[in-house]
Amino acid sequence: MATVDLNDVRKVYAGGVEAVKGVSIAIPDKQLCVLVGPSGCGKSTLLRMIAGLETISSGTVAIDGKIVNAVGPTERDIAMVFQNYALYPHMTVYDNMAYGLRNRGTPKAEVDSRVRSTAKVLELSGLLDRRPRELSGGQRQRVAMGRAIVRNPKVFLFDEPLSNLDAKLRGQMRVEIKSLQRRLGVTSVYVTHDQLEAMTLADMLVVMNAGLVEQIGAPLDIYEKPASTFVASFIGAPPMNLLSLSTESSANELEGKLLGLAPPGGQAAMLGFRPEDAELVADAEDRSGALMLSATVEAVEPVGAETFLHCSAAGNRIVIRVGGRTAAKPGDKLRITATAEKLHWFDRGGRRLDSTSPSS
Ligand code: ADP
Repeated sequence: MATVDLNDVRKVYAGGVEAVKGVSIAIPDKQLCVLVGPSGCGKSTLLRMIAGLETISSGTVAIDGKIVNAVGPTERDIAMVFQNYALYPHMTVYDNMAYGLRNRGTPKAEVDSRVRSTAKVLELSGLLDRRPRELSGGQRQRVAMGRAIVRNPKVFLFDEPLSNLDAKLRGQMRVEIKSLQRRLGVTSVYVTHDQLEAMTLADMLVVMNAGLVEQIGAPLDIYEKPASTFVASFIGAPPMNLLSLSTESSANELEGKLLGLAPPGGQAAMLGFRPEDAELVADAEDRSGALMLSATVEAVEPVGAETFLHCSAAGNRIVIRVGGRTAAKPGDKLRITATAEKLHWFDRGGRRLDSTSPSS
């Protein structure tokens, strides 16, 4: 049981790099909070400050309401699962899981009961006598988690724990981590650069960019209402289509098409829509209250259940998602429409123009 509260946390490294520039996040008890953002945005630095592995330049980190800035990592009651989960190769699964408890002088009977109950939760009971090399990648990952869980910590911290696994295993482990975290109800902070992993795991998603928080919210709320063009481009694959309204050629070409459409206030510089929110239309007639675009197909990318049409439209590159099989081929001219409620408007600074934006 624990909350984790970051209040205006900053980190300036010795060399002068300001890796985290004032981040505030309030993580409620039992929630899985995912920090996502491109490489170098400060996610790991933030996680390491929560862990106590990195000093905090200013601001506070509190666990369960208690400021821990000056508390050492071993006294913070947290457990960290790293990307490189480095199990001891010469030890059995049992001993790997028992190691930390024994080191703390936990009585033998308690070590045994905790290791066995954790093994049960993780479905590792039949593997306790094996050594890491006799396990699959997924089983090893579970042992690494077991080693963290067995200590019964207040908070779990995950630093890209799945990035060394192949795509299929990563998908399976994602589901396992999520269900395990639910069952155990341990507040967790999870760092990844993979937006799909972030979307599927998070109760609370924090999108970071260049040392700052861009947006905090539930994954689908962020997907549906990205607070900035950065978030719109980072969350979702393929990313949101963004049409520039500020370059002359694009604006001219779009001008006639935007009749009856207006941003919810302010000067719009970008207009966005998701690949799945565009519709192909057969007729040449413009629909009022909807964006109409003429596009030329440049590439067709079938992925099975769906196909992505890469097109040029009004001087921009856009992607349209259609069904699995399509007759479209490069060179085809298409008419595309997106209704007003599917459009996203952004100002010159890339911020969402929307009075009810859930941005942080
Ligand atoms: P992320 O986890 O999002 O990839 P990091 O937190 O690792 O980002 O890094 C954020 C920034 O801080 C980067 O510019 C990185 O080069 C810099 N950085 C990370 N660790 C150190 C360090 N020990 N000393 C100096 N700069 C660092």
